[in-house]
Amino acid sequence: RNGKKFFDDRLQARNALYSWGIEQLLKATGGTLAAGKSDDALLGEVVSDSRKYTQNGIFVALKGEIHDGHDHAAQAVANGCRCVVVDHPLGLPDGSCVQIQVADTTAALGDLAAFRRRAVRECCDQVVVGITGSCGKTTVKEMVAAIFNRKWPEGEAYPDGVVLKTKGNFNNLVGLPLSLLPLGVHQRGVILEMGMNVPGEIARLAEIADPDISCITNIHGAHLAGLGSVEGVARAKEELYRATSDEATLVVNLDDERIKKLSENYRQRRVTFSLVPVDGDNACDMRLQPDLWVADRRMKDDGTTTFTLHHGLNVAEVTLFVPGEHNVANALCAAAIGVAAGATLAQIAAGLRDFRAPDKRMQIVKSPQGLSIINDTYNANPASMKAGLTTLKQICRGGSYAVLGDMLELGDDSQAAHYDIGRVVARLNIDEVVVTGEFRNHILCGAVENGFPRERIRTFDDKEHVVSWLMSEIGRKGGCGDDMVLVKASRGLRFETIVDELLGAA
Ligand code: ATP
Ligand code: MG
Repeated sequence: RNGKKFFDDRLQARNALYSWGIEQLLKATGGTLAAGKSDDALLGEVVSDSRKYTQNGIFVALKGEIHDGHDHAAQAVANGCRCVVVDHPLGLPDGSCVQIQVADTTAALGDLAAFRRRAVRECCDQVVVGITGSCGKTTVKEMVAAIFNRKWPEGEAYPDGVVLKTKGNFNNLVGLPLSLLPLGVHQRGVILEMGMNVPGEIARLAEIADPDISCITNIHGAHLAGLGSVEGVARAKEELYRATSDEATLVVNLDDERIKKLSENYRQRRVTFSLVPVDGDNACDMRLQPDLWVADRRMKDDGTTTFTLHHGLNVAEVTLFVPGEHNVANALCAAAIGVAAGATLAQIAAGLRDFRAPDKRMQIVKSPQGLSIINDTYNANPASMKAGLTTLKQICRGGSYAVLGDMLELGDDSQAAHYDIGRVVARLNIDEVVVTGEFRNHILCGAVENGFPRERIRTFDDKEHVVSWLMSEIGRKGGCGDDMVLVKASRGLRFETIVDELLGAA
């Protein structure tokens, strides 16, 4: 099976699969021919962006909140597309393209991805992983990708590797199909992030992906605005386990009581993990132990974390170049997915060592003055906010500073959740805190009413003066070298501008 011929054959097979015929498209989407006719011509890639040139492409006209793809179909045709998938016939020049009419173009995009997943499965062995959860999906996905690249090193022979993963954070009903559609027969591992705002979304994503390994990282009160309560969140995440086939494997986080409990409703093979192994009299009873656990965690202020990974009687030393207890949990979760996919502990340890933090997630950078900055500006919710603050306190050797902004999308819980962050600030005894955003006063109250000295927390109406105040405060105390600042807020606040300013780049 070795050698160039094997690869060439696989690439050829992949190209054949890339090529959709009109009949196949009609079958996959359940649509009807609204213009043009079916012929034997082979079409290429499925796209939703009309601006990009795509030879013989298939353009799916999606309706977004702002844009309607139907308005851009003519541009897509000018840019090489030979077929458009639409929800009503468009007045495009005769003969310019084939129009396939469907009831709902977003559903059709998912149907195309589902069709491809099943077609590829017919001709090769592949492991598809579905990951959902409140926090850490992207991080775990990237960790698993690093592990898979160690498990299947032959990927170096292919321009696009043998591991396919969700692009960036493309985890919704549009992003997941677009991530899955380039699937080829040469790919060995596929890792898909599944996000949601409303019930039913995860069930649909799982239906499209038909995962061989399904994982819920954790369940917290994120995205409450659409789901009502943390129980609502749990029910929505559970859709992944429910939609997983009987032959597939569930990866179960035993440290999350909700996941542990709901996993008991399912009979599929399980791989379990926990940060806390069973000890004492029961330590030798393997039936009571999680399948994977960790021991001897050590964290350094440069963000390096080391621990011993246990899988039954096997052990491996792991070095992780990303800080925080929550990232040890993410690494353990990724290791459990690796085990479920048949990776060895050596491959898992090597993969985790290769892993680097995705952009703006717990990235440690140094300012020209030597101040360490934890850039966690990608997003924020109550669980990740607490994780960020806890990590700051754990690894910082000098003064601990936090620049915090709003956690968005929390609906009616917003005020209480921000108050609670104030309480965490007080409990951890962070040295100085700067808060801006709509809910700044709730963080302030939560801190002060729980014993945090008023003079150590400062609120600002906007981001503008935060950095100058912070730097003068650090200067006044004569600190910098060992000091560390956590910068964190929801995406909408774009706190990366604060990091840029601290780095002198703005
Ligand atoms: P999104 O829902 O925005 O796609 P996500 O689930 O993909 O988020 P990441 O992008 O990996 O999560 O991380 C987002 C934030 O959550 C970061 O601030 C990160 O530090 C924090 N985080 C990551 N893993 C955990 C975890 N296991 N527990 C708590 N916080 C976490
Ligand atoms: Mg994500």
